[in-house]
Amino acid sequence: DTLSSLLDRTVRRFPDRTAAVFREHGVRWTWKELQREADSLAMGLLSLGLKAGDRVAIWSPNRPEWLVAQFATARLGLILVNINPAYRLAELEYALNLAQCRAIISADVFKTSQYLEMIRILAPEIGHAGQQEIQAARLPHLKFVIRMGQGTTRGMIGFDSLLAKGRAALDLAALDAITSGLDPHDPVNIQFTSGTTGNAKGATLTHYAVCNNARFSSRELRFTENDVLCIPIPLYHAFGMVLAGLLCVATGAAMVFPGEAFDPVVTMEAIQAERCTAMHCVPMMLISILGHPQFGEFDLSSLRTGMMAGAPCPVETMKRVVSDMHMREVTIAFGMTETSGAIFQSGNSDSLDRRVSTVGRILPHLEAKVVDVAGTTLPVGEKGELCVKGYTVLRGYWGDAARTKQAIVDGWLHTGDLATIDAQGYCNIVGRAKDMLIRGGENVYPREVEEFLFRHPKVQTVQVFGVPDERFGEEVCAWIILKPGSEATAEEIREFCKDQISHYKIPRYVRFVSEMPMTITGKVQKFVMRDAMIKELQ
Ligand code: ATP
Ligand code: MG
Repeated sequence: DTLSSLLDRTVRRFPDRTAAVFREHGVRWTWKELQREADSLAMGLLSLGLKAGDRVAIWSPNRPEWLVAQFATARLGLILVNINPAYRLAELEYALNLAQCRAIISADVFKTSQYLEMIRILAPEIGHAGQQEIQAARLPHLKFVIRMGQGTTRGMIGFDSLLAKGRAALDLAALDAITSGLDPHDPVNIQFTSGTTGNAKGATLTHYAVCNNARFSSRELRFTENDVLCIPIPLYHAFGMVLAGLLCVATGAAMVFPGEAFDPVVTMEAIQAERCTAMHCVPMMLISILGHPQFGEFDLSSLRTGMMAGAPCPVETMKRVVSDMHMREVTIAFGMTETSGAIFQSGNSDSLDRRVSTVGRILPHLEAKVVDVAGTTLPVGEKGELCVKGYTVLRGYWGDAARTKQAIVDGWLHTGDLATIDAQGYCNIVGRAKDMLIRGGENVYPREVEEFLFRHPKVQTVQVFGVPDERFGEEVCAWIILKPGSEATAEEIREFCKDQISHYKIPRYVRFVSEMPMTITGKVQKFVMRDAMIKELQ
């Protein structure tokens, strides 16, 4: 499949069923309507002279235009460069130039960020010569800025007017001629990683990889056209784009987007109002929903399943998801941007115990192994770096051959994550190799300490990481957000650990904070915390 054929099949099967609901924007589309919008925009993009292989950036939170742009660009064989909604000037400039984007489709504003103003700072030449094509010194490849939202900006093309123009000129035969010439193995996306460890990389993904990943993932979840998926995660990320959005396209399930920015109450309202049967989220979202004072006020009983991924999820939280949120078939998946989505996923044929404590088994047609630092494959059950091979693995990091060579060795992608795989094939993620710390010669796996501290009745969420130490090499540090209204001391936390976990795992430093530094995908950036602690301890 290409993205277009995947969509087309669903449009033929379920033309008039709901495809997408954007609650904040008051938009509801059937599959036929979504395809019509995408084809119209494709005509508009064609009129600008964009052609297969050109890179087009999208910089936007979850908005209706996002989905339209995804299928419009895919229809023409354009490569969609998905830009992080949290990016600022330097990062935007870097991403646009790295991928040599010819156009950017941009939101006007997101939260307090004035996207159009930022683009104008990078390209002050926009609108000066009075012509549509841009020539900007700092963005030498950029020709067009297509802006979403109300109003007009000189030198920028209105999304809605491009859409209207395309609609008036709609020529399906011309579009089909282009689409039928595309190869599923062509790139469809340049997808940036989350930047959790500090440096986002642009992974090149193909139609074949994303479409198949969505399809195989949906089978494990037993998704059908009767499902309604709540999507609070950003479409900007592979999790949202492939495992939520495309999963619905592959099965005919409806997508429900609660809003542009994650909010626990807005999410619960959406589940209740739309009778969602499933929800995909990162652990931080679940923790904030379950811990919200208004949690009990919403009827979430329509939920059946959902997927947790992106970061380790405490077992205690998963149990509450099953018992209090009715998601009895919930699964945990493990995946990376570099693998177009999921690699491991539990299915509802697995026992509840396995589903809440492992990331399940490998998806069909993929291979995995666990290796030591020398790259030697380890026996079953031993801890080492997880490597994967198969159709989902990225083509490479765009414009970065050196990094690609480092990450992919003989077709095996080195994930940088530590894992074990048992004799039945169930995988346990131990944590990131980078996060493991060595205190006085003993390996400490932060995830294990986090799981333990999470059981403390006053702890809402906790992150553990290492800081340099003269005596022991590294020391264990914990940042804790307490439950609303709770108070605790560092001593009390350490006392809780005493005689329960090995002395070298007990955090020497405990800090109570009100928030954790996070990526827009809801992942905690431990490197930011580590830097802050190093400064504090100096
Ligand atoms: P960057 O590579 O830019 O530092 P990132 O690795 O967070 O950021 P992503 O591709 O979004 O970027 O995330 C993939 C990573 O997320 C995996 O390598 C793994 O560390 C973590 N992860 C994903 N799913 C799980 C899971 N179920 N349990 C534990 N960790 C997970
Ligand atoms: Mg990564």
